[in-house]
Amino acid sequence: MKADLHSHSTHSDGTQSPQWLAQAAHDNGVTLWALTDHDTISGVASAAQAAAQHGIDFLSGVEISVTWHEKTIHIVALGVDETHPELCQGLASNRAGRTQRAHFIDAKLAQIGIPNALTGALQYVGNSELISRSHFARHLVATGVCANTHEVFQRYLGEGAAAYVPHQWASLEQALRWIHAASGVAVVAHPARHDLTAQQECAFFDEFVALGGQAVEVLTSAHNPSEIAHYQQLAQARTLYASCGSDFHDPKESRIALGGLPPLPDNLTPVWQAETLAPRIRRA
Ligand code: AMP
Ligand code: MN
Ligand code: MN
Ligand code: MN
Repeated sequence: MKADLHSHSTHSDGTQSPQWLAQAAHDNGVTLWALTDHDTISGVASAAQAAAQHGIDFLSGVEISVTWHEKTIHIVALGVDETHPELCQGLASNRAGRTQRAHFIDAKLAQIGIPNALTGALQYVGNSELISRSHFARHLVATGVCANTHEVFQRYLGEGAAAYVPHQWASLEQALRWIHAASGVAVVAHPARHDLTAQQECAFFDEFVALGGQAVEVLTSAHNPSEIAHYQQLAQARTLYASCGSDFHDPKESRIALGGLPPLPDNLTPVWQAETLAPRIRRA
């Protein structure tokens, strides 16, 4: 069994189609795959179909942007019924602010001498309802403003940087309500990237568990070995299921290929064994 339960397509800020991802998953030996685009399930149907054609088991997914105490936190939902109205309406409300935020980012960049960034970013957008900071980053790299996307976030788009625009996403409670209404399992995505102090992290997981959250990403391309060890311990201490996903976006930008992560450590219970998730796997 090789699972990759976190990946992005052109339906959000990935650069490849669900069909391309399914082919890559197959080529890299993935046997259980989830597409988890930001705030949209619009790629799930074609991903499920492509997975079946390649003989890969599939879980529906979405990565929901959440605002928790003024911080942005990403929650991956796995196994959701992608037709459920409460989930669909919730995700639509999360997407609704993105275009307006993009205009604000454009204005801030223009003020500091980088004009027409929105027009440039839109050339990279595959889903008109989903403009992301990643699309701006690609434009700023392509036009030579920055050497790579990492530099773009450091100088311009990351929290506190020159063209950062704060945004109010769904609350943690709302996101978990949508996920559970749609029969899914909530997973804390790349927890080490959320910039929480030890005390905040503890409070966050207390709340997540109290709201019925069940899993944490232990293995992700965003974690170094000591972070993996920390979340391995946290998963055990809190009896959370463990998830693993490359968070693949693009062959050049991403550090790890789809299916490129090692297996989960033996002493953890993989999220696909969760009682409520196992029956939601679409067997190829
Ligand atoms: P958004 O949801 O539009 O705010 O964009 C967030 C996305 O930007 C994340 O999902 C990543 O794909 C990307 N991102 C965030 N921080 C960085 C970073 N430091 N380097 C590269 N990409 C980043
Ligand atoms: Mn992304
Ligand atoms: Mn994320
Ligand atoms: Mn992601």
